[in-house]
Amino acid sequence: MILSEKAKQISPSLTLAITAKAKQMKNEGIDVISFGAGEPDFDTPKNIQEAAKKAIEAGLTRYTPASGINELKEAIVQKFKKDNDLTYTMDQVIISTGGKQCLSNVFQSILNPGDEVLVPIPYWVSYPELIKLSDGKPVYVENKKENDYKYTLDSLEKAISKKTKAIILNSPNNPAGSIYSHKELMEIADFAQKYDLIIISDEIYEKLIYGNKTHVSIASLSEDTFNRTIVINAVSKSYAMTGWRIGYAAGPKEIIKLMSSIQSHTTSNPTSISQYAALEALTGPQDDLDFMVKQFAQRRDYMVSRIKANPKLSCIEPEGAFYIMLNVSSVYGKKVNGNTISNSMEFSDMILDVEKVAVIPGVAFGLDEYVRLSYATSLEKITEGLDRIERFMDKFN
Ligand code: PMP
Ligand code: GLU
Repeated sequence: MILSEKAKQISPSLTLAITAKAKQMKNEGIDVISFGAGEPDFDTPKNIQEAAKKAIEAGLTRYTPASGINELKEAIVQKFKKDNDLTYTMDQVIISTGGKQCLSNVFQSILNPGDEVLVPIPYWVSYPELIKLSDGKPVYVENKKENDYKYTLDSLEKAISKKTKAIILNSPNNPAGSIYSHKELMEIADFAQKYDLIIISDEIYEKLIYGNKTHVSIASLSEDTFNRTIVINAVSKSYAMTGWRIGYAAGPKEIIKLMSSIQSHTTSNPTSISQYAALEALTGPQDDLDFMVKQFAQRRDYMVSRIKANPKLSCIEPEGAFYIMLNVSSVYGKKVNGNTISNSMEFSDMILDVEKVAVIPGVAFGLDEYVRLSYATSLEKITEGLDRIERFMDKFN
Protein backbone atom coordinates (compact mmCIF):
# COMPACT_ATOMS: atom_id res chain seq x y z
CA MET A 1 0.00 0.00 0.00
CA ILE A 2 1.42 3.40 -0.91
CA LEU A 3 0.66 5.91 1.84
CA SER A 4 1.15 9.65 2.01
CA GLU A 5 4.80 10.67 1.67
CA LYS A 6 3.99 13.90 3.49
CA ALA A 7 2.46 12.12 6.47
CA LYS A 8 5.48 9.83 6.65
CA GLN A 9 7.71 12.88 7.14
CA ILE A 10 5.83 13.86 10.31
CA SER A 11 7.25 12.74 13.66
CA PRO A 12 4.71 12.01 16.39
CA SER A 13 4.62 14.59 19.21
CA LEU A 14 7.33 13.54 21.66
CA THR A 15 5.89 15.69 24.44
CA LEU A 16 2.58 13.87 24.20
CA ALA A 17 4.18 10.45 23.68
CA ILE A 18 6.41 10.64 26.77
CA THR A 19 3.62 12.09 28.89
CA ALA A 20 1.35 9.23 27.82
CA LYS A 21 4.05 6.68 28.58
CA ALA A 22 4.56 8.09 32.09
CA LYS A 23 0.78 8.02 32.69
CA GLN A 24 0.61 4.42 31.56
CA MET A 25 3.49 3.42 33.85
CA LYS A 26 1.65 5.11 36.74
CA ASN A 27 -1.49 3.15 35.89
CA GLU A 28 0.56 -0.02 36.05
CA GLY A 29 1.49 0.89 39.63
CA ILE A 30 5.01 2.13 38.88
CA ASP A 31 6.10 5.09 41.01
CA VAL A 32 6.92 7.52 38.17
CA ILE A 33 7.69 11.20 38.65
CA SER A 34 6.63 12.98 35.49
CA PHE A 35 8.31 16.21 34.47
CA GLY A 36 6.91 15.60 31.00
CA ALA A 37 3.53 17.14 30.61
CA GLY A 38 3.20 20.75 29.67
CA GLU A 39 -0.08 20.93 31.52
CA PRO A 40 -1.08 22.37 34.88
CA ASP A 41 -1.58 19.76 37.60
CA PHE A 42 -4.48 21.84 38.98
CA ASP A 43 -8.11 21.01 38.31
CA THR A 44 -10.07 23.38 36.12
CA PRO A 45 -11.46 26.11 38.46
CA LYS A 46 -14.90 25.38 39.92
CA ASN A 47 -16.68 28.36 38.34
CA ILE A 48 -15.55 27.13 34.90
CA GLN A 49 -16.72 23.59 35.62
CA GLU A 50 -20.09 24.99 36.70
CA ALA A 51 -20.44 27.02 33.50
CA ALA A 52 -19.90 23.85 31.46
CA LYS A 53 -22.52 21.94 33.47
CA LYS A 54 -24.98 24.78 32.96
CA ALA A 55 -24.31 24.74 29.23
CA ILE A 56 -25.13 21.05 29.07
CA GLU A 57 -28.29 21.50 31.11
CA ALA A 58 -29.38 24.42 28.93
CA GLY A 59 -29.05 22.20 25.86
CA LEU A 60 -26.11 24.12 24.41
CA THR A 61 -24.86 20.91 22.92
CA ARG A 62 -25.48 21.44 19.22
CA TYR A 63 -23.27 22.68 16.41
CA THR A 64 -22.26 26.29 16.84
CA PRO A 65 -20.99 28.56 14.04
CA ALA A 66 -17.83 26.85 12.75
CA SER A 67 -15.55 29.68 13.92
CA GLY A 68 -17.11 29.82 17.40
CA ILE A 69 -19.96 31.47 19.31
CA ASN A 70 -20.40 35.22 19.24
CA GLU A 71 -20.46 35.58 23.05
CA LEU A 72 -16.98 34.07 23.30
CA LYS A 73 -15.68 36.07 20.34
CA GLU A 74 -16.92 39.23 22.05
CA ALA A 75 -15.16 38.19 25.30
CA ILE A 76 -11.97 37.55 23.32
CA VAL A 77 -12.21 40.98 21.69
CA GLN A 78 -12.55 42.50 25.19
CA LYS A 79 -9.64 40.42 26.50
CA PHE A 80 -7.36 41.64 23.71
CA LYS A 81 -8.38 45.22 24.39
CA LYS A 82 -7.87 44.98 28.15
CA ASP A 83 -4.73 42.83 28.32
CA ASN A 84 -2.92 43.61 25.09
CA ASP A 85 -4.13 47.02 23.93
CA LEU A 86 -5.36 45.44 20.69
CA THR A 87 -8.59 46.46 19.01
CA TYR A 88 -10.14 43.72 16.92
CA THR A 89 -13.59 43.31 15.48
CA MET A 90 -15.38 39.99 15.87
CA ASP A 91 -14.68 38.98 12.29
CA GLN A 92 -10.97 39.16 13.11
CA VAL A 93 -11.31 36.37 15.67
CA ILE A 94 -11.56 32.58 15.34
CA ILE A 95 -12.04 30.02 18.11
CA SER A 96 -10.52 26.59 17.49
CA THR A 97 -9.83 23.23 19.07
CA GLY A 98 -6.83 24.38 21.10
CA GLY A 99 -4.00 26.69 20.23
CA LYS A 100 -2.72 23.83 18.15
CA GLN A 101 -5.58 23.96 15.67
CA CYS A 102 -5.22 27.75 15.42
CA LEU A 103 -1.60 27.26 14.40
CA SER A 104 -2.49 24.52 11.97
CA ASN A 105 -5.17 26.75 10.41
CA VAL A 106 -2.72 29.65 10.09
CA PHE A 107 -0.05 27.66 8.31
CA GLN A 108 -2.62 26.15 5.94
CA SER A 109 -3.99 29.62 5.22
CA ILE A 110 -0.74 31.42 4.48
CA LEU A 111 1.71 28.88 3.02
CA ASN A 112 2.28 27.79 -0.55
CA PRO A 113 4.58 24.87 -1.37
CA GLY A 114 8.19 25.72 -0.52
CA ASP A 115 7.41 28.84 1.51
CA GLU A 116 9.77 29.18 4.45
CA VAL A 117 8.88 29.97 8.05
CA LEU A 118 11.48 31.12 10.57
CA VAL A 119 11.42 28.98 13.68
CA PRO A 120 13.54 29.83 16.74
CA ILE A 121 15.75 27.19 18.34
CA PRO A 122 14.62 26.03 20.83
CA TYR A 123 11.12 25.66 19.44
CA TRP A 124 7.92 24.05 20.61
CA VAL A 125 7.84 20.57 19.13
CA SER A 126 4.76 21.00 16.91
CA TYR A 127 5.80 24.11 14.93
CA PRO A 128 8.04 22.35 12.40
CA GLU A 129 5.63 19.47 11.85
CA LEU A 130 2.62 21.77 11.37
CA ILE A 131 4.59 23.83 8.86
CA LYS A 132 5.58 20.69 6.95
CA LEU A 133 1.98 19.50 6.94
CA SER A 134 1.11 22.74 5.15
CA ASP A 135 3.83 22.14 2.52
CA GLY A 136 6.02 24.83 4.04
CA LYS A 137 9.63 24.58 5.12
CA PRO A 138 10.74 25.31 8.69
CA VAL A 139 13.98 27.28 8.71
CA TYR A 140 15.63 27.04 12.11
CA VAL A 141 17.14 30.18 13.57
CA GLU A 142 20.14 29.47 15.79
CA ASN A 143 20.04 31.69 18.83
CA LYS A 144 22.64 32.24 21.52
CA LYS A 145 22.54 31.10 25.13
CA GLU A 146 23.94 34.49 26.24
CA ASN A 147 20.79 36.01 24.81
CA ASP A 148 18.45 33.51 26.51
CA TYR A 149 18.00 31.86 23.10
CA LYS A 150 16.02 34.81 21.76
CA TYR A 151 16.16 36.03 18.18
CA THR A 152 18.65 38.78 17.40
CA LEU A 153 18.83 40.76 14.16
CA ASP A 154 22.04 38.94 13.45
CA SER A 155 20.51 35.47 13.84
CA LEU A 156 17.47 36.47 11.80
CA GLU A 157 19.44 38.03 8.94
CA LYS A 158 21.39 34.77 8.60
CA ALA A 159 18.17 32.78 8.12
CA ILE A 160 16.21 35.04 5.76
CA SER A 161 15.78 34.12 2.11
CA LYS A 162 13.59 35.13 -0.82
CA LYS A 163 11.22 32.34 0.14
CA THR A 164 10.69 33.46 3.76
CA LYS A 165 7.01 34.05 4.27
CA ALA A 166 6.54 34.18 8.03
CA ILE A 167 8.25 34.23 11.40
CA ILE A 168 7.18 32.47 14.58
CA LEU A 169 7.48 34.40 17.79
CA ASN A 170 6.74 32.60 21.04
CA SER A 171 7.01 34.78 24.13
CA PRO A 172 7.05 33.55 26.88
CA ASN A 173 8.77 30.70 25.14
CA ASN A 174 8.28 26.98 25.42
CA PRO A 175 10.74 25.43 26.31
CA ALA A 176 13.30 28.11 27.34
CA GLY A 177 10.87 30.35 29.27
CA SER A 178 12.42 33.51 27.83
CA ILE A 179 10.43 36.71 27.34
CA TYR A 180 11.03 39.40 24.73
CA SER A 181 11.30 43.00 25.92
CA HIS A 182 9.57 45.89 24.18
CA LYS A 183 12.88 46.89 22.58
CA GLU A 184 13.58 43.38 21.28
CA LEU A 185 10.08 43.16 19.84
CA MET A 186 10.60 46.50 18.07
CA GLU A 187 13.65 45.05 16.33
CA ILE A 188 11.68 42.01 15.19
CA ALA A 189 8.85 44.25 14.03
CA ASP A 190 11.28 46.29 11.90
CA PHE A 191 12.77 43.10 10.51
CA ALA A 192 9.31 41.74 9.62
CA GLN A 193 8.45 45.01 7.90
CA LYS A 194 11.73 45.11 5.99
CA TYR A 195 11.14 41.62 4.55
CA ASP A 196 7.33 41.82 4.49
CA LEU A 197 6.80 38.80 6.75
CA ILE A 198 3.69 37.55 8.47
CA ILE A 199 4.29 37.32 12.22
CA ILE A 200 2.75 34.38 14.04
CA SER A 201 2.83 35.38 17.68
CA ASP A 202 2.10 32.48 20.01
CA GLU A 203 1.20 34.12 23.32
CA ILE A 204 -0.28 31.09 25.04
CA TYR A 205 1.94 31.56 28.14
CA GLU A 206 1.34 35.31 28.48
CA LYS A 207 -0.19 34.99 31.97
CA LEU A 208 2.55 32.72 33.29
CA ILE A 209 5.30 35.19 34.05
CA TYR A 210 7.53 35.32 37.15
CA GLY A 211 9.57 38.28 38.29
CA ASN A 212 9.12 41.78 36.98
CA LYS A 213 8.99 41.30 33.20
CA THR A 214 5.71 42.03 31.47
CA HIS A 215 4.15 40.58 28.37
CA VAL A 216 3.86 42.80 25.31
CA SER A 217 2.08 41.60 22.20
CA ILE A 218 4.09 42.45 19.10
CA ALA A 219 0.78 43.17 17.32
CA SER A 220 0.29 46.20 19.58
CA LEU A 221 3.53 47.96 18.61
CA SER A 222 2.32 49.75 15.48
CA GLU A 223 -0.30 49.73 12.76
CA ASP A 224 2.17 47.83 10.62
CA THR A 225 2.67 44.99 13.13
CA PHE A 226 -1.06 44.89 13.83
CA ASN A 227 -1.72 44.28 10.15
CA ARG A 228 0.90 41.58 9.69
CA THR A 229 0.45 39.60 12.92
CA ILE A 230 -1.74 36.65 13.83
CA VAL A 231 -1.91 36.36 17.62
CA ILE A 232 -2.45 32.85 18.96
CA ASN A 233 -3.73 32.23 22.45
CA ALA A 234 -5.71 29.61 24.38
CA VAL A 235 -7.34 28.95 27.72
CA SER A 236 -5.43 25.65 28.04
CA LYS A 237 -2.49 26.73 30.20
CA SER A 238 -3.74 29.81 32.06
CA TYR A 239 -6.98 28.23 33.24
CA ALA A 240 -5.89 24.60 33.65
CA MET A 241 -8.09 23.63 30.70
CA THR A 242 -5.78 21.54 28.53
CA GLY A 243 -8.38 18.83 27.90
CA TRP A 244 -11.19 21.22 27.00
CA ARG A 245 -9.44 22.16 23.76
CA ILE A 246 -10.16 25.84 23.27
CA GLY A 247 -7.71 28.16 21.56
CA TYR A 248 -8.23 31.39 19.68
CA ALA A 249 -6.52 33.54 17.09
CA ALA A 250 -6.90 37.12 15.95
CA GLY A 251 -5.48 38.92 12.96
CA PRO A 252 -6.16 40.30 9.49
CA LYS A 253 -9.69 39.55 8.29
CA GLU A 254 -8.66 37.81 5.10
CA ILE A 255 -6.47 35.32 6.98
CA ILE A 256 -9.11 34.65 9.66
CA LYS A 257 -11.63 34.08 6.86
CA LEU A 258 -9.43 31.42 5.27
CA MET A 259 -8.80 29.81 8.66
CA SER A 260 -12.55 29.67 9.32
CA SER A 261 -13.22 28.17 5.95
CA ILE A 262 -10.62 25.42 6.53
CA GLN A 263 -11.98 24.76 10.00
CA SER A 264 -15.53 24.48 8.68
CA HIS A 265 -14.40 21.39 6.76
CA THR A 266 -11.96 19.83 9.21
CA THR A 267 -13.54 19.95 12.67
CA SER A 268 -16.48 22.40 12.38
CA ASN A 269 -16.87 24.27 15.67
CA PRO A 270 -14.75 23.52 18.74
CA THR A 271 -16.84 21.73 21.41
CA SER A 272 -19.87 23.84 22.28
CA ILE A 273 -19.68 23.07 26.02
CA SER A 274 -16.00 23.99 26.15
CA GLN A 275 -16.73 27.30 24.46
CA TYR A 276 -19.16 28.22 27.26
CA ALA A 277 -16.58 27.11 29.82
CA ALA A 278 -13.95 29.30 28.11
CA LEU A 279 -16.37 32.23 28.22
CA GLU A 280 -16.49 31.88 32.00
CA ALA A 281 -12.70 31.52 32.14
CA LEU A 282 -12.18 34.83 30.33
CA THR A 283 -14.99 36.82 31.95
CA GLY A 284 -15.28 35.27 35.44
CA PRO A 285 -13.10 35.74 38.57
CA GLN A 286 -9.36 35.37 37.99
CA ASP A 287 -8.34 34.31 41.55
CA ASP A 288 -7.50 30.74 40.57
CA LEU A 289 -5.17 31.97 37.86
CA ASP A 290 -3.39 34.21 40.38
CA PHE A 291 -3.09 31.26 42.76
CA MET A 292 -1.63 29.00 40.08
CA VAL A 293 0.92 31.61 38.99
CA LYS A 294 2.11 31.96 42.61
CA GLN A 295 2.49 28.18 42.89
CA PHE A 296 4.41 27.95 39.61
CA ALA A 297 6.69 30.78 40.75
CA GLN A 298 7.48 28.99 44.01
CA ARG A 299 8.26 25.73 42.21
CA ARG A 300 10.40 27.50 39.65
CA ASP A 301 12.46 29.22 42.37
CA TYR A 302 12.94 25.96 44.22
CA MET A 303 14.07 24.08 41.11
CA VAL A 304 16.42 26.78 39.92
CA SER A 305 18.08 27.04 43.34
CA ARG A 306 18.58 23.28 43.58
CA ILE A 307 19.96 23.02 40.07
CA LYS A 308 22.34 25.91 40.70
CA ALA A 309 23.59 24.26 43.87
CA ASN A 310 24.60 21.08 42.01
CA PRO A 311 27.90 21.36 40.10
CA LYS A 312 26.84 18.61 37.68
CA LEU A 313 23.74 20.50 36.58
CA SER A 314 22.94 23.81 34.98
CA CYS A 315 19.85 25.27 33.39
CA ILE A 316 18.32 28.09 31.41
CA GLU A 317 16.59 30.20 34.05
CA PRO A 318 12.99 30.63 32.88
CA GLU A 319 11.16 33.95 33.15
CA GLY A 320 7.82 32.53 32.08
CA ALA A 321 5.81 29.42 31.04
CA PHE A 322 6.44 26.36 33.26
CA TYR A 323 9.50 24.60 31.90
CA ILE A 324 13.16 24.38 32.82
CA MET A 325 15.75 23.33 30.29
CA LEU A 326 18.26 21.29 32.25
CA ASN A 327 21.71 20.91 30.73
CA VAL A 328 22.78 17.29 31.13
CA SER A 329 25.53 17.23 28.52
CA SER A 330 28.19 16.85 31.25
CA VAL A 331 27.38 13.11 31.27
CA TYR A 332 27.35 12.60 27.50
CA GLY A 333 30.03 10.08 26.57
CA LYS A 334 29.90 8.56 30.08
CA LYS A 335 28.44 5.25 31.18
CA VAL A 336 25.54 4.32 33.41
CA ASN A 337 24.70 0.65 34.09
CA GLY A 338 27.16 -0.28 31.33
CA ASN A 339 25.48 1.94 28.68
CA THR A 340 27.06 5.04 27.23
CA ILE A 341 24.75 8.05 27.04
CA SER A 342 25.45 10.25 24.06
CA ASN A 343 22.36 12.40 23.56
CA SER A 344 19.19 13.74 25.17
CA MET A 345 17.03 10.92 23.82
CA GLU A 346 19.25 8.26 25.39
CA PHE A 347 19.40 10.26 28.61
CA SER A 348 15.59 10.48 28.77
CA ASP A 349 15.12 6.78 28.01
CA MET A 350 17.69 5.77 30.60
CA ILE A 351 16.47 8.01 33.43
CA LEU A 352 12.93 6.75 32.91
CA ASP A 353 14.18 3.20 32.99
CA VAL A 354 16.57 3.52 35.95
CA GLU A 355 15.00 6.20 38.17
CA LYS A 356 11.42 6.31 36.85
CA VAL A 357 11.64 10.00 36.02
CA ALA A 358 9.99 11.24 32.81
CA VAL A 359 11.66 14.20 31.08
CA ILE A 360 11.42 15.42 27.49
CA PRO A 361 14.64 15.15 25.46
CA GLY A 362 15.90 18.52 24.32
CA VAL A 363 16.29 17.20 20.77
CA ALA A 364 12.50 17.57 20.45
CA PHE A 365 13.06 21.33 20.71
CA GLY A 366 16.29 21.46 18.72
CA LEU A 367 18.68 21.61 21.72
CA ASP A 368 20.24 18.22 22.31
CA GLU A 369 22.39 19.18 25.31
CA TYR A 370 19.27 19.63 27.40
CA VAL A 371 16.23 17.82 28.72
CA ARG A 372 13.04 19.72 29.53
CA LEU A 373 11.44 19.52 32.96
CA SER A 374 7.91 20.81 33.40
CA TYR A 375 7.19 22.31 36.82
CA ALA A 376 3.46 22.00 36.37
CA THR A 377 3.63 19.34 39.04
CA SER A 378 3.51 19.51 42.87
CA LEU A 379 6.45 20.70 44.96
CA GLU A 380 6.49 17.34 46.70
CA LYS A 381 6.89 15.52 43.37
CA ILE A 382 9.45 18.06 42.21
CA THR A 383 11.53 17.46 45.34
CA GLU A 384 11.45 13.70 44.89
CA GLY A 385 12.09 14.02 41.14
CA LEU A 386 15.15 16.22 41.66
CA ASP A 387 16.48 13.78 44.29
CA ARG A 388 16.21 11.05 41.68
CA ILE A 389 17.83 13.15 38.94
CA GLU A 390 20.76 13.97 41.26
CA ARG A 391 21.11 10.31 42.20
CA PHE A 392 21.11 9.41 38.49
CA MET A 393 23.81 11.98 37.69
CA ASP A 394 25.98 10.48 40.45
CA LYS A 395 25.79 7.04 38.83
CA PHE A 396 27.89 8.03 35.80
CA ASN A 397 31.52 7.08 35.54
N1 PMP B 1 1.84 26.76 21.71
C1 PMP B 1 2.75 26.38 22.64
C2 PMP B 1 4.01 27.14 22.75
C3 PMP B 1 2.49 25.28 23.47
O1 PMP B 1 3.39 24.92 24.38
C4 PMP B 1 1.30 24.56 23.31
C5 PMP B 1 1.14 23.35 24.18
N2 PMP B 1 0.04 22.78 24.38
C6 PMP B 1 0.38 25.01 22.32
C7 PMP B 1 0.69 26.09 21.54
C8 PMP B 1 -0.93 24.33 22.06
O2 PMP B 1 -1.79 24.40 23.11
P1 PMP B 1 -3.24 23.77 23.10
O3 PMP B 1 -3.22 22.74 24.17
O4 PMP B 1 -4.17 24.92 23.42
O5 PMP B 1 -3.49 23.21 21.76
N1 GLU C 1 2.46 22.09 24.85
C1 GLU C 1 2.67 21.14 25.89
C2 GLU C 1 4.11 20.70 25.92
O1 GLU C 1 4.92 21.26 25.24
C3 GLU C 1 1.69 20.00 25.82
C4 GLU C 1 1.97 18.88 24.90
C5 GLU C 1 1.90 19.28 23.45
O2 GLU C 1 0.81 19.64 23.00
O3 GLU C 1 2.96 19.28 22.85
O4 GLU C 1 4.45 19.82 26.67
